Amino acid sequence: MCIRDSYVPADLVQPRVALAVSGEAELLNRTTAAAAERMFAAAAAAGVTMTLASGYRSYATQTATYNGYVSARGQAAADTASARPGYSEHQTGWAFDIGDGGGACSFQPCFAEQPAAVWAKANAYRFGFVVRYPLMLHPITGYYYESWHLRYIGVEAATDMKKRGIGTLEEYFGLKAAPGYP
Ligand SMILES: [Zn+2]
Repeated sequence: MCIRDSYVPADLVQPRVALAVSGEAELLNRTTAAAAERMFAAAAAAGVTMTLASGYRSYATQTATYNGYVSARGQAAADTASARPGYSEHQTGWAFDIGDGGGACSFQPCFAEQPAAVWAKANAYRFGFVVRYPLMLHPITGYYYESWHLRYIGVEAATDMKKRGIGTLEEYFGLKAAPGYP
């Protein structure tokens, strides 16, 4: 789903959590920020270090990132590594990536085995979050497993998905599997 290129959430704020970024990427919309603060605090209370690795991403930043991949590796490779401009959930302020303060596995497949990801997979729903791109469900979501990428949908919906064992928002909301780019 493409977001209008001019769309900027009106209520971007910096959550009071451990930050592993600066600039626009430390921002989330107000609802997501408040839920993130509750989740990060609960993780810390469970002895799990969690950092905000990337939040809001403007259309301009998406364009620069995507074009960088295209010039380095070509468009086909770029499309597997980066959302096209206007297609990133990060532009909405409702999604963010977590880190664990270490960094060796940040944004890598091995992050899935780190305590922050293991804890988030088991507990994020209690704060209204889903792991948006689960393992092996890329034919439905259009993205390979991102154990670090969380999306806010509210406690009620996230809990319902968990209870019913539904892995993707596409299935939960009855949407078509992610189509290719137009
Ligand atoms: Zn992400």
